[in-house]
Order: sequence, then C-alpha cells, then structure tokens
Amino acid sequence: MIQSPTNIVVQKYGGSSVADAEKIKQVAERIARTYRAGKKVVVVVSAMGKTTNQLIEKAKLVSASPSRRELDMLLTCGEREAMALLSMAVTEQGLEAISFTGSQAGILTNDRHSGARIVEVRPFRVEDELDRGKVVIVAGFQGVSYRREITTLGRGGSDTTAVALAAALRADYCEICSDVDGIYTADPRVVSTAELLHAISHDEMLELAAQGAKVLHDSSVEFARRSGIALWARATSKDGGGTRVDFQPDRDRPVAGVTGQKSLIRVKVSGGAAVEHALQIIEAASIPLTHLDLEGKELRAWFTIADVPDWPAVKAKLESLLAGQLELGDEGAVSLVGHGIGGNPQMINKARQTAVAAGVPLNAVSVSPLRITLWCESAQVDDLTRALHQAFVA
Ligand code: ADP
Ligand code: ASP
Ligand code: MG
Repeated sequence: MIQSPTNIVVQKYGGSSVADAEKIKQVAERIARTYRAGKKVVVVVSAMGKTTNQLIEKAKLVSASPSRRELDMLLTCGEREAMALLSMAVTEQGLEAISFTGSQAGILTNDRHSGARIVEVRPFRVEDELDRGKVVIVAGFQGVSYRREITTLGRGGSDTTAVALAAALRADYCEICSDVDGIYTADPRVVSTAELLHAISHDEMLELAAQGAKVLHDSSVEFARRSGIALWARATSKDGGGTRVDFQPDRDRPVAGVTGQKSLIRVKVSGGAAVEHALQIIEAASIPLTHLDLEGKELRAWFTIADVPDWPAVKAKLESLLAGQLELGDEGAVSLVGHGIGGNPQMINKARQTAVAAGVPLNAVSVSPLRITLWCESAQVDDLTRALHQAFVA
C-alpha cells in the first residue's frame, strides 16, 4: 500500500550530538532548517554525552545491585535534562517547541524495568502540538508501563523510541543522527579502512546490531521492518547522505559487515537439575541472552553485562544455588554478517583460516543463515575484526 506523505519527519540525536551547550545549539539549527523547509518535526533526544554512564556510577556508590525500578527512575533524568535544554535552544531559533517525557508522548511499554519493550504508541499529545506548529522534542529511551511505572528500553534505546514514534505518526522518514556518517562495513573506530554502506537490508542490519554494532539499537530495526518506515542513519553534522536501512543492497560481495562484541559473560552449567535451575534464574532476571547452547546436561549462555544492571545480585544467586556446577567466564565474539553466508562451508573455512593466520585461537564457531560467529578472548576481538574485514571486505 502506498501511503500519502504526512510531511512529518522524526529526527533522533544521540548523546555525543548533544554533549554540551554548543552542540545543542548546532542541533537546534539543524532542526530549524528542517522546519523551515516545510516539515513537521519530531525530535527524539538521548542524554547528554556520558550522562547515562555517570548516573549508573552514582547509583553504584550507594548500591552494588540497585533495584531496576529505581535505576529507571534515575536514568530517565538524563534524557529529561537533554529534552528541556534542546527545547529551549529550538525556541531561541525563533520556533515554538515543547518537550515531552516518554510517558507524555504515549510510549507504552511492558513492565520489564531496564529492558522494556514498547507495546503501543499513543502519540496524541505529539500530534496536537505538531498541529499547533510546534517542534516536539521527546525524551528517548523511556516509556511508561500499563501500571504507570517509568521504564527504560535498554542501553541505546533512544533509536527505538524514534522509529516507534515515526511508525505511529506515519512519518515520511526517520533519521538517526550521530557522530558517524552512517552504517560502515565495520566500526570505523576499530577498522580504519571500513567503508560507508549506502544501503543495507533490515535483516542484515538487525543481525549486525544484535551482534554488537551499536550504531543502531536492534529493536529500532525491528520496528522499521514491521512498519515499513524509511530509516536513515546519518551524521548530525550533515543534512543528507548516510545509509538507508531497508533496501536490498546491490552488492557484489556476500558480506555486509563485520562486528565484534567484547566482555560477554559466559555461564556454563553442568548437570540436569543445575541446568533447570540456571534457566529459571535467567528467566526470573529477564537476562537477554545473545547466544545459548544447550546440549544434553550442559548449558552455555552468553550475555552482555550492560543488560543486567543488578548482575552482582544475579551472580550471587547463581553461585549459591549451583555451587560446584557453575563456571563463569569472559569471552568475545566476532561476526561476519550477510545474506546466506552462514550456509556457505567455504566461507566458514575461510573465516577459520583467517583467524589462524592472524594468530587468534578460536574457542568456538557458530552459524545462522545470516552470520558466521567466531568466539575468542575479549582482548583479541579487535584484531580478529580487522583480519576478517581485510579478508572478506577490503
Ligand atoms: P549515539 O550516541 O548517537 O546513539 P552510538 O555511540 O550509539 O551513537 O553509535 C555510534 C557509534 O557506533 C559510532 O561512533 C561507532 O563507533 C559505532 N559503530 C559500531 N559499529 C558501527 C558500524 N558498523 N558503522 C558505524 N558505526 C559503528
Ligand atoms: N542514554 C541512553 C544510553 O546511553 C539511551 C541512548 O543513548 O539511546 O544508553
Ligand atoms: Mg546509540
């Protein structure tokens, strides 16, 4: 179905784009240019600079395993600060602006604190203010549950706020603006020869995001795929260009990109009853696993510590219930992502040989239709990312 244009544009600005007053003013100028070009502008903003990390550090000064509810109360302050300052800066541009928290903007979530999922968006207040000619600034990364509890969407979740709002408003497009020009074939901070992609499919981007490429939050890609919203990743410092997420790219090489993840916690449990206990603890703590390997009476599961803010308490529970049957480790993983590559034995072998030639011992290899993942020590993730990029991309 072809949708008629609404003239609504959703722009999301990440923490580094609003890190100080000067940057906030530059973002306000960019917003004003879009408004003056005749668009209705909705802006989603993240907390300034490293504010979210600083708030987590503050919490740790008073509690090693803070309650997830109270942590959500605390962390949402970061986006609230940014939205109010940005609204003031946009007003200085001669426009009318109003800021809303996630709850005011109608972002309704489930009640899983720290990692809530958006279940519905009711953007009535946003629509009313757009109709009054205002620029609407919405705090990213947060929502409200049906029990009126304030929730957060997981680290990097402002991207998801933006795409979910864009879908609900049937925006013409959604721009995720950050300190990079778009989606590269690898993190340009790790691989200096990484190339900017002009297009990437939803499936490939979802896989890259899920395997560590934090340039887009994985759920934001899911929302884009489901709603068909045109999604762009582009630089805050430019008005156009970037990567369009949705086109089936016209590429001659099978690999879209390479991405690494460091410091994954590996939980290894042996014994039938112990495996059951471990799975119950993982479920009760709502730990989003990045990988799971369950074979007979042995379980191995991996996740990122940033997704489990009360990890000391969860770890203590695992240790007390599974004494003698539990092994905890730290591991890294590097994934090659592209349509069909996980089913290609030549590519799997070439990836293994590349690791050997780079002097990176592998702990394991796993595949899915869209990826090949090589497991190694965290300290070797960047070296392996560079070697695989060289072998498969350029
Ligand atoms: P923001 O704070 O604006 O949300 P993020 O830090 O979350 O920005 O995401 C942008 C960062 O993502 C870049 O600075 C870059 O280091 C990193 N990144 C990781 N993988 C990629 C990739 N494949 N392409 C582009 N950037 C990537
Ligand atoms: N401020 C939050 C974070 O640092 C959300 C975001 O940046 O998207 O994770
Ligand atoms: Mg981000």
